[in-house]
Amino acid sequence: MTTRPATHSTLTCPDCGHAEQLEMPTDACQWFHTCAGCGTVLRPKPGDCCVFCSWGDVPCPPVQAGAGCG
Ligand SMILES: [Zn+2]
Repeated sequence: MTTRPATHSTLTCPDCGHAEQLEMPTDACQWFHTCAGCGTVLRPKPGDCCVFCSWGDVPCPPVQAGAGCG
């Protein structure tokens, strides 16, 4: 398959519900993101590798590829 992984994910803040579409790095995991709505620092849930896997509507590119990351 040649489907390219999605590179944008919409993060939804669990505290205030603010959603932001962000571009994901394709070769690294992003562990922290500061919510633009309330300033809460989002962190991955236990067992997740990055904020996109925990709070985004699309998991990070390495996970989409089935490789996982970390
Ligand atoms: Zn927030």
